[in-house]
Amino acid sequence: MTDSPGTDIIVVGGGIGGLALAAGLRRHGFEVTVLDRDTDLRRTGGYHITLDPRAQQALAGLLPPDVFERLLASSADGRLRDPDPFWDHKGRLIGQARTASGVPGIDIDRITLRVLLAEAAGDRLVLGRTFENFRHSENGTVVARFDDGSEREAGLLVGADGVQSRVARQLAGGPTSRPTGLVGVCGRTPRARLSQDEQDRLGTRSSLAVGAHGTALYVGYLDPGAQAVLDAPELSMAVTKEPIYIWGAMFPESEHTGQMRALSESGLRDATRDLLRSRGWGERPLAVLEHTDTQGIAVFRFNAASSDPQEQAPWPAGNVTALGDAVHATPPTAGMGAGVAIRDAAALVEELQAARAGQKALRVAVHDFEGGMRERGAEAIRAAMKTVNWVLATNTPAGAALTRAALPVLAGLHGLKRSSWSSWSG
Ligand SMILES: Cc1cc2nc3c(=O)[nH]c(=O)nc-3n(C[C@H](O)[C@H](O)[C@H](O)COP(=O)(O)OP(=O)(O)OC[C@H]3O[C@@H](n4cnc5c(N)ncnc54)[C@H](O)[C@@H]3O)c2cc1C
Repeated sequence: MTDSPGTDIIVVGGGIGGLALAAGLRRHGFEVTVLDRDTDLRRTGGYHITLDPRAQQALAGLLPPDVFERLLASSADGRLRDPDPFWDHKGRLIGQARTASGVPGIDIDRITLRVLLAEAAGDRLVLGRTFENFRHSENGTVVARFDDGSEREAGLLVGADGVQSRVARQLAGGPTSRPTGLVGVCGRTPRARLSQDEQDRLGTRSSLAVGAHGTALYVGYLDPGAQAVLDAPELSMAVTKEPIYIWGAMFPESEHTGQMRALSESGLRDATRDLLRSRGWGERPLAVLEHTDTQGIAVFRFNAASSDPQEQAPWPAGNVTALGDAVHATPPTAGMGAGVAIRDAAALVEELQAARAGQKALRVAVHDFEGGMRERGAEAIRAAMKTVNWVLATNTPAGAALTRAALPVLAGLHGLKRSSWSSWSG
Protein backbone atom coordinates (compact mmCIF):
# COMPACT_ATOMS: atom_id res chain seq x y z
CA MET A 1 0.00 0.00 0.00
CA THR A 2 1.29 3.48 -0.82
CA ASP A 3 1.53 5.89 2.08
CA SER A 4 -0.12 8.94 0.57
CA PRO A 5 -3.28 9.45 -1.50
CA GLY A 6 -0.92 9.72 -4.50
CA THR A 7 -1.81 11.85 -7.45
CA ASP A 8 -4.89 9.87 -8.41
CA ILE A 9 -8.04 9.09 -6.49
CA ILE A 10 -10.83 7.06 -8.01
CA VAL A 11 -14.39 7.47 -6.79
CA VAL A 12 -16.85 4.76 -7.84
CA GLY A 13 -20.35 6.28 -7.90
CA GLY A 14 -21.34 9.76 -8.99
CA GLY A 15 -24.35 10.09 -6.70
CA ILE A 16 -24.67 12.60 -3.90
CA GLY A 17 -21.74 11.45 -1.74
CA GLY A 18 -19.31 10.63 -4.58
CA LEU A 19 -19.81 13.94 -6.37
CA ALA A 20 -19.62 15.93 -3.12
CA LEU A 21 -16.32 14.18 -2.38
CA ALA A 22 -14.94 14.86 -5.85
CA ALA A 23 -15.99 18.53 -5.60
CA GLY A 24 -14.16 18.95 -2.28
CA LEU A 25 -11.05 17.09 -3.45
CA ARG A 26 -10.88 19.14 -6.61
CA ARG A 27 -11.27 22.35 -4.61
CA HIS A 28 -8.22 21.34 -2.60
CA GLY A 29 -6.07 20.42 -5.58
CA PHE A 30 -6.36 16.61 -5.63
CA GLU A 31 -6.56 14.69 -8.90
CA VAL A 32 -9.81 12.77 -8.80
CA THR A 33 -11.85 10.78 -11.31
CA VAL A 34 -15.47 9.75 -10.72
CA LEU A 35 -17.03 6.83 -12.59
CA ASP A 36 -20.76 6.07 -12.57
CA ARG A 37 -22.84 3.46 -14.33
CA ASP A 38 -25.52 6.06 -15.19
CA THR A 39 -25.32 7.52 -18.67
CA ASP A 40 -27.25 10.69 -17.83
CA LEU A 41 -26.94 12.53 -14.51
CA ARG A 42 -30.48 13.85 -14.79
CA ARG A 43 -31.98 10.39 -15.02
CA THR A 44 -32.09 10.01 -11.27
CA GLY A 45 -35.02 9.89 -8.85
CA GLY A 46 -36.86 13.19 -9.11
CA TYR A 47 -37.63 13.67 -5.43
CA HIS A 48 -36.43 16.20 -2.91
CA ILE A 49 -33.48 16.00 -0.57
CA THR A 50 -33.47 17.59 2.86
CA LEU A 51 -30.16 19.04 3.99
CA ASP A 52 -29.86 19.75 7.70
CA PRO A 53 -27.56 22.52 9.00
CA ARG A 54 -24.61 20.13 9.37
CA ALA A 55 -24.92 19.03 5.73
CA GLN A 56 -25.26 22.67 4.63
CA GLN A 57 -22.10 23.57 6.49
CA ALA A 58 -20.24 20.64 4.90
CA LEU A 59 -21.39 21.72 1.44
CA ALA A 60 -20.26 25.29 2.05
CA GLY A 61 -16.74 23.91 2.52
CA LEU A 62 -16.85 21.45 -0.40
CA LEU A 63 -18.29 23.68 -3.11
CA PRO A 64 -16.93 26.80 -4.76
CA PRO A 65 -18.87 29.83 -3.35
CA ASP A 66 -20.67 30.56 -6.64
CA VAL A 67 -22.01 26.97 -6.86
CA PHE A 68 -23.08 27.04 -3.20
CA GLU A 69 -24.90 30.30 -3.87
CA ARG A 70 -26.79 28.70 -6.76
CA LEU A 71 -27.63 25.76 -4.51
CA LEU A 72 -29.19 28.13 -1.95
CA ALA A 73 -31.10 29.99 -4.69
CA SER A 74 -32.50 26.61 -5.86
CA SER A 75 -33.54 25.37 -2.39
CA ALA A 76 -36.65 25.91 -0.30
CA ASP A 77 -36.21 27.10 3.27
CA GLY A 78 -37.73 24.70 5.82
CA ARG A 79 -38.11 27.54 8.32
CA LEU A 80 -40.73 29.18 6.10
CA ARG A 81 -43.03 26.17 6.41
CA ASP A 82 -45.87 25.79 8.90
CA PRO A 83 -45.46 23.09 11.60
CA ASP A 84 -45.86 19.57 10.18
CA PRO A 85 -49.18 17.86 11.03
CA PHE A 86 -49.94 14.15 11.53
CA TRP A 87 -53.08 12.68 9.93
CA ASP A 88 -54.82 9.37 10.17
CA HIS A 89 -55.73 7.19 7.18
CA LYS A 90 -59.09 8.94 6.80
CA GLY A 91 -57.48 12.39 6.57
CA ARG A 92 -58.29 13.44 10.17
CA LEU A 93 -55.78 15.50 12.10
CA ILE A 94 -54.28 13.53 15.01
CA GLY A 95 -51.32 15.68 16.02
CA GLN A 96 -49.02 18.56 15.23
CA ALA A 97 -45.25 18.95 15.45
CA ARG A 98 -44.31 21.58 18.04
CA THR A 99 -41.97 23.60 15.85
CA ALA A 100 -41.97 24.22 12.14
CA SER A 101 -40.37 21.07 10.66
CA GLY A 102 -38.15 20.44 13.73
CA VAL A 103 -34.78 21.48 12.35
CA PRO A 104 -34.16 24.35 9.96
CA GLY A 105 -33.36 22.13 6.97
CA ILE A 106 -33.46 23.17 3.35
CA ASP A 107 -35.08 21.17 0.54
CA ILE A 108 -33.69 20.79 -2.96
CA ASP A 109 -34.61 18.75 -6.03
CA ARG A 110 -32.47 15.63 -6.17
CA ILE A 111 -31.65 16.30 -9.83
CA THR A 112 -30.65 19.92 -9.17
CA LEU A 113 -28.37 18.87 -6.31
CA ARG A 114 -26.68 16.19 -8.41
CA VAL A 115 -26.16 18.53 -11.37
CA LEU A 116 -24.65 21.27 -9.18
CA LEU A 117 -22.35 18.78 -7.44
CA ALA A 118 -21.25 17.40 -10.83
CA GLU A 119 -20.38 20.89 -12.04
CA ALA A 120 -18.21 21.42 -8.99
CA ALA A 121 -16.62 17.96 -9.41
CA GLY A 122 -15.27 18.99 -12.83
CA ASP A 123 -14.83 17.21 -16.11
CA ARG A 124 -13.14 14.04 -14.84
CA LEU A 125 -16.51 12.38 -14.54
CA VAL A 126 -16.88 9.23 -16.62
CA LEU A 127 -20.45 8.08 -17.21
CA GLY A 128 -21.69 4.70 -18.42
CA ARG A 129 -18.96 2.77 -16.55
CA THR A 130 -20.00 0.00 -14.16
CA PHE A 131 -17.48 -1.03 -11.51
CA GLU A 132 -16.95 -4.77 -11.09
CA ASN A 133 -14.17 -5.35 -8.55
CA PHE A 134 -10.76 -4.22 -7.35
CA ARG A 135 -7.37 -5.80 -6.62
CA HIS A 136 -4.08 -4.58 -5.28
CA SER A 137 -1.03 -4.31 -7.52
CA GLU A 138 2.43 -5.48 -6.49
CA ASN A 139 3.45 -1.94 -5.60
CA GLY A 140 0.45 -1.49 -3.32
CA THR A 141 -1.73 0.67 -5.54
CA VAL A 142 -5.33 -0.33 -6.13
CA VAL A 143 -6.63 -1.40 -9.54
CA ALA A 144 -10.35 -1.04 -10.27
CA ARG A 145 -11.94 -3.14 -12.99
CA PHE A 146 -15.03 -2.10 -14.98
CA ASP A 147 -17.63 -3.99 -16.99
CA ASP A 148 -16.10 -2.99 -20.35
CA GLY A 149 -12.89 -4.77 -19.32
CA SER A 150 -11.01 -1.52 -18.66
CA GLU A 151 -8.87 -1.06 -15.55
CA ARG A 152 -7.76 2.04 -13.63
CA GLU A 153 -4.95 2.29 -11.10
CA ALA A 154 -5.01 4.71 -8.19
CA GLY A 155 -3.50 5.53 -4.81
CA LEU A 156 -6.95 5.50 -3.23
CA LEU A 157 -10.29 4.00 -4.26
CA VAL A 158 -13.50 5.26 -2.66
CA GLY A 159 -16.76 3.36 -3.07
CA ALA A 160 -19.64 5.83 -3.17
CA ASP A 161 -21.78 3.36 -5.07
CA GLY A 162 -24.88 3.44 -2.89
CA VAL A 163 -27.06 0.84 -1.20
CA GLN A 164 -25.95 -2.20 -3.24
CA SER A 165 -22.29 -1.13 -3.20
CA ARG A 166 -19.92 -3.58 -4.85
CA VAL A 167 -16.88 -1.82 -3.38
CA ALA A 168 -18.17 -2.12 0.21
CA ARG A 169 -19.38 -5.67 -0.41
CA GLN A 170 -15.89 -6.74 -1.53
CA LEU A 171 -14.32 -4.97 1.46
CA ALA A 172 -16.80 -6.42 3.96
CA GLY A 173 -17.02 -9.86 2.36
CA GLY A 174 -20.81 -9.59 2.08
CA PRO A 175 -23.71 -7.12 1.82
CA THR A 176 -23.53 -4.06 4.09
CA SER A 177 -27.30 -3.59 4.44
CA ARG A 178 -30.50 -5.60 4.38
CA PRO A 179 -34.19 -4.98 3.66
CA THR A 180 -36.13 -3.49 6.59
CA GLY A 181 -39.39 -5.14 5.51
CA LEU A 182 -40.92 -1.86 4.28
CA VAL A 183 -41.46 -0.90 0.66
CA GLY A 184 -42.03 2.63 -0.60
CA VAL A 185 -43.72 4.06 -3.67
CA CYS A 186 -42.95 7.71 -4.42
CA GLY A 187 -44.30 10.31 -6.78
CA ARG A 188 -44.78 14.04 -7.40
CA THR A 189 -48.11 15.82 -7.60
CA PRO A 190 -48.42 19.46 -8.69
CA ARG A 191 -50.34 21.28 -5.94
CA ALA A 192 -52.63 22.98 -8.46
CA ARG A 193 -54.09 19.60 -9.51
CA LEU A 194 -55.72 19.11 -6.10
CA SER A 195 -59.10 20.57 -5.09
CA GLN A 196 -58.96 23.80 -3.10
CA ASP A 197 -60.22 21.88 -0.11
CA GLU A 198 -57.38 19.37 -0.27
CA GLN A 199 -54.81 22.12 -0.91
CA ASP A 200 -56.05 23.84 2.25
CA ARG A 201 -55.85 20.63 4.26
CA LEU A 202 -52.32 19.74 3.16
CA GLY A 203 -51.16 23.37 3.20
CA THR A 204 -47.63 24.53 2.39
CA ARG A 205 -45.91 22.07 4.72
CA SER A 206 -44.99 18.40 4.94
CA SER A 207 -47.06 15.79 6.78
CA LEU A 208 -47.30 12.12 7.68
CA ALA A 209 -50.50 10.07 7.68
CA VAL A 210 -50.67 6.68 9.39
CA GLY A 211 -53.07 3.78 9.16
CA ALA A 212 -53.26 0.22 10.41
CA HIS A 213 -51.48 -2.83 8.91
CA GLY A 214 -48.12 -1.13 8.40
CA THR A 215 -49.30 1.61 6.08
CA ALA A 216 -48.24 5.27 6.07
CA LEU A 217 -48.20 8.16 3.62
CA TYR A 218 -45.61 10.94 3.75
CA VAL A 219 -46.47 14.10 1.83
CA GLY A 220 -43.62 16.60 1.45
CA TYR A 221 -44.04 20.13 0.13
CA LEU A 222 -41.56 21.73 -2.24
CA ASP A 223 -41.75 25.24 -3.63
CA PRO A 224 -38.21 26.51 -4.25
CA GLY A 225 -39.67 29.50 -6.15
CA ALA A 226 -41.69 31.10 -3.36
CA GLN A 227 -39.68 29.72 -0.41
CA ALA A 228 -36.13 30.16 -1.76
CA VAL A 229 -33.35 30.26 0.84
CA LEU A 230 -31.57 32.90 -1.24
CA ASP A 231 -33.95 35.21 -3.07
CA ALA A 232 -32.09 35.35 -6.38
CA PRO A 233 -34.34 33.78 -9.05
CA GLU A 234 -31.74 34.45 -11.75
CA LEU A 235 -29.41 31.95 -10.01
CA SER A 236 -32.00 29.24 -9.44
CA MET A 237 -31.51 25.88 -11.14
CA ALA A 238 -34.53 24.27 -9.47
CA VAL A 239 -36.18 21.59 -11.59
CA THR A 240 -39.43 22.18 -9.69
CA LYS A 241 -41.05 25.24 -11.23
CA GLU A 242 -44.41 25.15 -9.44
CA PRO A 243 -45.44 24.14 -5.91
CA ILE A 244 -45.52 20.35 -5.67
CA TYR A 245 -46.27 17.63 -3.15
CA ILE A 246 -43.82 14.76 -3.05
CA TRP A 247 -45.55 11.72 -1.64
CA GLY A 248 -44.20 8.44 -0.38
CA ALA A 249 -46.53 5.57 0.47
CA MET A 250 -45.11 2.87 2.75
CA PHE A 251 -46.28 -0.67 3.35
CA PRO A 252 -44.85 -4.02 4.43
CA GLU A 253 -43.07 -6.15 1.87
CA SER A 254 -45.18 -9.04 0.57
CA GLU A 255 -45.70 -11.14 -2.52
CA HIS A 256 -48.03 -8.38 -3.72
CA THR A 257 -45.38 -5.65 -3.34
CA GLY A 258 -42.97 -7.95 -5.19
CA GLN A 259 -45.38 -7.94 -8.14
CA MET A 260 -45.68 -4.15 -7.91
CA ARG A 261 -41.99 -3.87 -8.72
CA ALA A 262 -42.80 -4.95 -12.29
CA LEU A 263 -45.35 -2.11 -12.71
CA SER A 264 -44.74 1.46 -13.80
CA GLU A 265 -46.54 4.79 -14.26
CA SER A 266 -50.34 4.61 -13.92
CA GLY A 267 -50.25 0.84 -13.20
CA LEU A 268 -48.05 1.47 -10.19
CA ARG A 269 -50.17 4.40 -9.01
CA ASP A 270 -53.36 2.34 -9.24
CA ALA A 271 -51.82 -0.64 -7.43
CA THR A 272 -50.60 1.66 -4.62
CA ARG A 273 -53.98 3.36 -4.26
CA ASP A 274 -55.81 0.02 -4.30
CA LEU A 275 -53.49 -1.44 -1.71
CA LEU A 276 -54.07 1.50 0.66
CA ARG A 277 -57.84 1.35 0.03
CA SER A 278 -57.83 -2.35 0.91
CA ARG A 279 -56.16 -1.41 4.23
CA GLY A 280 -59.04 0.96 5.06
CA TRP A 281 -57.69 4.27 3.75
CA GLY A 282 -60.30 6.90 2.88
CA GLU A 283 -60.49 8.72 -0.46
CA ARG A 284 -59.36 12.09 0.89
CA PRO A 285 -55.73 11.28 1.71
CA LEU A 286 -55.52 9.29 -1.54
CA ALA A 287 -56.27 12.35 -3.71
CA VAL A 288 -52.56 13.21 -3.85
CA LEU A 289 -51.93 9.80 -5.47
CA GLU A 290 -54.93 10.07 -7.75
CA HIS A 291 -53.63 13.30 -9.33
CA THR A 292 -49.96 12.39 -9.42
CA ASP A 293 -47.61 12.85 -12.29
CA THR A 294 -47.41 9.19 -13.31
CA GLN A 295 -44.09 9.60 -15.15
CA GLY A 296 -41.89 9.99 -12.09
CA ILE A 297 -43.53 7.32 -9.93
CA ALA A 298 -41.18 4.63 -8.59
CA VAL A 299 -41.15 1.73 -6.16
CA PHE A 300 -38.18 0.84 -3.97
CA ARG A 301 -37.23 -1.24 -0.96
CA PHE A 302 -36.15 0.41 2.28
CA ASN A 303 -32.74 -1.05 3.08
CA ALA A 304 -30.80 -0.32 6.25
CA ALA A 305 -27.33 -1.05 7.55
CA SER A 306 -26.81 -1.99 11.19
CA SER A 307 -27.35 0.86 13.65
CA ASP A 308 -24.44 -0.49 15.70
CA PRO A 309 -21.42 1.65 14.72
CA GLN A 310 -19.05 -1.28 15.38
CA GLU A 311 -20.79 -3.31 12.67
CA GLN A 312 -20.30 -0.62 10.04
CA ALA A 313 -17.27 -0.59 7.71
CA PRO A 314 -16.07 -3.91 9.23
CA TRP A 315 -12.71 -3.95 7.45
CA PRO A 316 -9.18 -2.86 8.30
CA ALA A 317 -8.36 0.66 7.07
CA GLY A 318 -6.36 0.79 3.84
CA ASN A 319 -6.33 2.46 0.45
CA VAL A 320 -9.84 1.27 -0.41
CA THR A 321 -12.72 2.76 1.55
CA ALA A 322 -16.38 3.63 1.08
CA LEU A 323 -18.87 6.25 2.21
CA GLY A 324 -22.56 7.15 2.22
CA ASP A 325 -25.23 4.53 1.64
CA ALA A 326 -22.52 2.04 0.62
CA VAL A 327 -21.61 1.83 4.31
CA HIS A 328 -24.64 3.11 6.22
CA ALA A 329 -27.68 2.60 3.99
CA THR A 330 -30.42 4.72 5.59
CA PRO A 331 -34.15 4.52 4.83
CA PRO A 332 -35.57 7.87 3.68
CA THR A 333 -37.80 8.16 6.77
CA ALA A 334 -35.50 10.61 8.57
CA GLY A 335 -34.46 12.62 5.50
CA MET A 336 -30.81 12.25 6.56
CA GLY A 337 -29.14 9.81 4.13
CA ALA A 338 -27.87 12.34 1.61
CA GLY A 339 -26.80 14.80 4.29
CA VAL A 340 -24.71 12.16 6.04
CA ALA A 341 -23.09 11.11 2.74
CA ILE A 342 -22.13 14.76 2.20
CA ARG A 343 -20.68 15.01 5.72
CA ASP A 344 -18.70 11.81 5.08
CA ALA A 345 -17.27 13.47 1.97
CA ALA A 346 -16.25 16.59 3.91
CA ALA A 347 -14.58 14.47 6.61
CA LEU A 348 -12.62 12.41 4.06
CA VAL A 349 -11.40 15.55 2.27
CA GLU A 350 -10.13 16.89 5.59
CA GLU A 351 -8.33 13.64 6.45
CA LEU A 352 -6.73 13.38 3.01
CA GLN A 353 -5.45 16.93 3.32
CA ALA A 354 -3.80 15.95 6.62
CA ALA A 355 -2.24 12.89 4.92
CA ARG A 356 -0.95 14.98 2.03
CA ALA A 357 0.56 17.48 4.46
CA GLY A 358 2.46 14.59 6.07
CA GLN A 359 0.60 14.92 9.39
CA LYS A 360 -0.51 11.29 9.24
CA ALA A 361 -0.11 8.21 7.06
CA LEU A 362 -2.86 7.47 4.54
CA ARG A 363 -3.91 4.37 6.47
CA VAL A 364 -4.30 6.44 9.66
CA ALA A 365 -6.25 9.15 7.81
CA VAL A 366 -8.64 6.53 6.39
CA HIS A 367 -8.90 4.87 9.81
CA ASP A 368 -9.83 8.20 11.45
CA PHE A 369 -12.33 8.98 8.70
CA GLU A 370 -14.01 5.57 9.04
CA GLY A 371 -14.28 6.01 12.83
CA GLY A 372 -16.24 9.27 12.44
CA MET A 373 -18.34 7.82 9.63
CA ARG A 374 -19.50 4.91 11.81
CA GLU A 375 -20.88 7.35 14.41
CA ARG A 376 -22.57 9.58 11.80
CA GLY A 377 -24.08 6.60 10.01
CA ALA A 378 -25.38 4.96 13.18
CA GLU A 379 -27.08 8.20 14.30
CA ALA A 380 -28.91 8.55 10.97
CA ILE A 381 -29.99 4.90 10.88
CA ARG A 382 -31.33 5.06 14.44
CA ALA A 383 -33.39 8.16 13.54
CA ALA A 384 -34.74 6.59 10.34
CA MET A 385 -35.53 3.23 11.94
CA LYS A 386 -37.78 4.85 14.57
CA THR A 387 -40.43 5.53 11.90
CA VAL A 388 -39.79 2.22 10.10
CA ASN A 389 -40.23 0.20 13.32
CA TRP A 390 -43.26 2.19 14.33
CA VAL A 391 -44.97 1.61 10.96
CA LEU A 392 -44.06 -2.10 11.05
CA ALA A 393 -45.43 -2.43 14.60
CA THR A 394 -48.90 -1.49 13.33
CA ASN A 395 -48.76 -4.62 11.16
CA THR A 396 -48.89 -7.09 14.07
CA PRO A 397 -52.36 -8.32 15.17
CA ALA A 398 -52.07 -6.36 18.46
CA GLY A 399 -50.56 -3.31 16.72
CA ALA A 400 -53.33 -3.26 14.10
CA ALA A 401 -56.06 -3.54 16.76
CA LEU A 402 -54.45 -0.80 18.85
CA THR A 403 -54.05 1.50 15.84
CA ARG A 404 -57.66 0.95 14.75
CA ALA A 405 -58.84 1.82 18.26
CA ALA A 406 -56.45 4.71 18.92
CA LEU A 407 -56.69 6.70 15.67
CA PRO A 408 -60.37 7.77 16.01
CA VAL A 409 -59.75 8.65 19.68
CA LEU A 410 -56.72 10.78 18.79
CA ALA A 411 -58.70 12.45 15.97
CA GLY A 412 -61.59 13.14 18.37
CA LEU A 413 -59.28 14.56 21.03
CA HIS A 414 -57.59 16.77 18.50
CA GLY A 415 -60.96 17.96 17.20
CA LEU A 416 -62.01 18.83 20.78
CA LYS A 417 -58.77 20.71 21.40
CA ARG A 418 -59.28 22.71 18.23
CA SER A 419 -62.91 23.59 18.98
CA SER A 420 -62.12 24.62 22.59
CA TRP A 421 -59.22 26.70 21.28
CA SER A 422 -61.48 28.44 18.72
CA SER A 423 -64.10 29.17 21.41
CA TRP A 424 -61.34 30.61 23.67
CA SER A 425 -59.81 32.66 20.90
CA GLY A 426 -63.11 33.54 19.27
C1 LIG B 1 -37.09 8.18 -2.57
C2 LIG B 1 -35.95 8.61 -1.73
C3 LIG B 1 -36.01 9.82 -1.08
C4 LIG B 1 -34.98 10.24 -0.30
N1 LIG B 1 -35.08 11.43 0.33
C5 LIG B 1 -34.06 11.88 1.07
C6 LIG B 1 -34.11 13.14 1.70
O1 LIG B 1 -35.11 13.86 1.65
N2 LIG B 1 -33.05 13.56 2.40
C7 LIG B 1 -31.92 12.80 2.50
O2 LIG B 1 -30.98 13.24 3.14
N3 LIG B 1 -31.83 11.59 1.91
C8 LIG B 1 -32.87 11.11 1.21
N4 LIG B 1 -32.80 9.88 0.61
C9 LIG B 1 -31.60 9.07 0.76
C10 LIG B 1 -30.50 9.59 -0.15
O3 LIG B 1 -30.92 9.73 -1.48
C11 LIG B 1 -29.31 8.68 -0.09
O4 LIG B 1 -29.05 8.40 1.26
C12 LIG B 1 -28.10 9.37 -0.72
O5 LIG B 1 -28.33 9.58 -2.09
C13 LIG B 1 -26.86 8.55 -0.50
O6 LIG B 1 -25.81 9.06 -1.26
P1 LIG B 1 -24.75 8.06 -1.88
O7 LIG B 1 -23.80 8.90 -2.65
O8 LIG B 1 -24.22 7.19 -0.82
O9 LIG B 1 -25.55 7.10 -2.85
P2 LIG B 1 -26.35 7.49 -4.17
O10 LIG B 1 -26.71 8.92 -4.18
O11 LIG B 1 -27.43 6.48 -4.28
O12 LIG B 1 -25.28 7.26 -5.32
C14 LIG B 1 -24.77 6.00 -5.66
C15 LIG B 1 -24.26 6.11 -7.09
O13 LIG B 1 -23.48 4.96 -7.39
C16 LIG B 1 -23.75 4.55 -8.70
N5 LIG B 1 -23.41 3.12 -8.78
C17 LIG B 1 -23.96 2.11 -8.11
N6 LIG B 1 -23.37 0.95 -8.40
C18 LIG B 1 -22.39 1.24 -9.29
C19 LIG B 1 -21.40 0.47 -9.97
N7 LIG B 1 -21.28 -0.85 -9.78
N8 LIG B 1 -20.55 1.10 -10.83
C20 LIG B 1 -20.64 2.46 -11.02
N9 LIG B 1 -21.56 3.23 -10.40
C21 LIG B 1 -22.41 2.64 -9.55
C22 LIG B 1 -25.22 4.86 -8.89
O14 LIG B 1 -25.55 5.00 -10.26
C23 LIG B 1 -25.37 6.17 -8.12
O15 LIG B 1 -25.20 7.29 -8.93
C24 LIG B 1 -33.82 9.43 -0.17
C25 LIG B 1 -33.73 8.21 -0.85
C26 LIG B 1 -34.80 7.78 -1.61
C27 LIG B 1 -34.69 6.46 -2.32
